[in-house]
Amino acid sequence: MRFVPQFTDGQTFPHPLGKIVCVGRNYADHAKELENPVPSEPLLFIKPSTSALSFDAPLAPPFSRGEVHFELELALLIGEALTDATQGEAERAVVGIGLALDLTLRDVQTRLKENGHPWEVSKAFDGACPLSAFLPLTRVPNWNALAFSLEIDGEERQYGEGADMLFPIPTLVAEMSRHFTLEAGDVILTGTPAGVGELPRGAQLRMTLTGGLEVTASVVE
Ligand code: ZN
Repeated sequence: MRFVPQFTDGQTFPHPLGKIVCVGRNYADHAKELENPVPSEPLLFIKPSTSALSFDAPLAPPFSRGEVHFELELALLIGEALTDATQGEAERAVVGIGLALDLTLRDVQTRLKENGHPWEVSKAFDGACPLSAFLPLTRVPNWNALAFSLEIDGEERQYGEGADMLFPIPTLVAEMSRHFTLEAGDVILTGTPAGVGELPRGAQLRMTLTGGLEVTASVVE
């Protein structure tokens, strides 16, 4: 069954989830912590719709395949098709904003990167993209003022602000649409700030986003 995006006001988005287009290294401090150079153009990759799930059930990523890392990211729900969009078209096409975890099999990814291979299997597995409900957007928000955070077992582990993105949201979405046509129901992940780490089994997660979104979740033992 295809995942269908939900809004925080209880409404269901009229299209099933499409692809999830992601950017790596969109915060300088996170690029630094993984000892990666800061890119001159966005490093894009895609998670399939089958990687999405809600935060309702305990998260159960494939721990048997090596270290699972959490990456908290702002998620944007796209409401209309975009190809080669301008920045204005790109930001007006965003109809919802929420939170996502870009779960990553870090050991697997490191091995693949060392060999110069594509890293899909480390980021596109079933359950690799837990998604919250989306705050509905009726007008373009002040992207720079967005702030979001992740607590694990009561301790803040990640904090990010839209203002710290290397590629701000309108630039990023427009650039994505130059490479891949975006469609209604696609979701954009905008990169993770510093603080990524191993997702502990049995952990309780609390995520917040300015504008009134609070999500709690747990991880299987
Ligand atoms: Zn990420």
